[in-house]
Amino acid sequence: MDPFADTLRRLRETFRSGRTRAAEFRAAQLEGLGRFLRDNKQLLQDALAKDLRKSPLESDMSELIICQNEVSLAIKNLHSWMKDEPVSTNMLTKLSSAFIRKEPFGLILIIAPWNYPVNLTLVPLVGALAAGNCVILKPSEISKSTEKVLAEVLPQYLDQSCFAVVLGGPQETQQLLENRFDHIFFTGTPHVGKIVMAAATKHLTPVTLELGGKSPCYVDDDCDPQTVANRVVWFRYFNAGQTCVAPDYVLCSRETQERLLPAIQSAITRFYGDDPKSSPNLSRIVNQKHFKRLQGLLGCGRVAIGGQSDESERYIAPTVLVDVQETEPVMQEEIFGPILPIVTVRGLDEAVDFITRREKPLALYAFSNNSQVVNQMLERTSSGSFGGNEGFVYLTVPSLPFGGVGHSGMGRYHGKFSFDTFSHHRACLMASPGLEKLNEVRYPPYSDWSQKFITWALDSQGCTLL
Ligand code: NAD
Repeated sequence: MDPFADTLRRLRETFRSGRTRAAEFRAAQLEGLGRFLRDNKQLLQDALAKDLRKSPLESDMSELIICQNEVSLAIKNLHSWMKDEPVSTNMLTKLSSAFIRKEPFGLILIIAPWNYPVNLTLVPLVGALAAGNCVILKPSEISKSTEKVLAEVLPQYLDQSCFAVVLGGPQETQQLLENRFDHIFFTGTPHVGKIVMAAATKHLTPVTLELGGKSPCYVDDDCDPQTVANRVVWFRYFNAGQTCVAPDYVLCSRETQERLLPAIQSAITRFYGDDPKSSPNLSRIVNQKHFKRLQGLLGCGRVAIGGQSDESERYIAPTVLVDVQETEPVMQEEIFGPILPIVTVRGLDEAVDFITRREKPLALYAFSNNSQVVNQMLERTSSGSFGGNEGFVYLTVPSLPFGGVGHSGMGRYHGKFSFDTFSHHRACLMASPGLEKLNEVRYPPYSDWSQKFITWALDSQGCTLL
């Protein structure tokens, strides 16, 4: 007995009715989502504080404002995004009109993680609704307070004939995945990404996989250590390091490491005080399991800064590890916590070699006063996104696509990229029912002349037939 069967049937019926395709219907859903965010700002901030002890500013900056901006952008641009996109034709189709129609896929499944449980659930939802789909949302069961708000309050703001929230952990999600969807949008670990993709294969369902991994951060000798330290400390310890695009480790020379360490210590003290545990601006580890995992990683290399932990609060101090071996667990798995190992290399070439020997990361950062060094790093590597002398603030720019490459994921979203991700790009050619005489040339029996004409007509656009 499939517990999701009725919900899925209901949503499929709505989609088949065509209601979700109308621009007015889509706009009404987006407006509802915007109202949900505005009316429940405090409730969401409280839930995020309960789940992760997120500070109101970090909640606003990385979750609520980003969602609200995505909603506003989608409402503002809905008509232009939905418009057919005319394309040029070749000589064979000169008298026809060719265009790309963005049509909704149908029923979408969005599966979200716990680390930014509002952002990573609602930003994809904006794209899916704007594109005219019906949606099933599966928030993370780990960020429980946020899950509760999303399950109990959000549906009141949306048309429930096209939208539903489904709850559960791995077992329920796998049961849900046995059903057929028209697109699955998953954010989480590469391990579960493979489970999702395998389930999607059974129904030939397209997937977007937003995964994680180890994002490197190269620091060149030619840099101002305090500037680099400020930026790296902020985006490594933001949300207690539980950020998919946080710099997972620093690569630099031993000399730069020695200049960076006091600068990092100084930035930590300035941002979180002498006792970071009492800072209201430092989040906590989401649960006991992750706390224990991170505590285990503190034993790798040598603790140069921090290293303290308190299980009763799931607190781990902003920590820097040095003398770390490549083979140690901290360099084998994604850290996803407030621990920053420094790995020493002799320079740019060795750093590039270190990075390109590994899976393509979700993000890559390079810091240098010399723009050639930053550009070389960009040229000689690949990653989902790239920050030159900057952290993950590119995530606040909706005109940039967000997504991984290789092991860090497939597909992209944010802004119009989300709309396109949740739309089928249908190739359309509209010809006149008349003018049949002009078609004679392409029908058999073929002659030398028709051969020449067809070759010319197709070559003039540099295309080939089939
Ligand atoms: P996760 O893969 O454990 O869980 C993600 C979702 O999948 C949850 O909703 C969960 O209920 C479900 N799930 C978990 N195990 C499952 C299973 N065996 N079968 C079916 N479904 C299952 O990920 P997480 O711990 O919630 O999130 C952390 C990971 O997500 C990190 O690797 C991080 O880098 C990645 N992440 C990536 C991005 C991105 O945008 N690329 C953003 C945030 C987090």
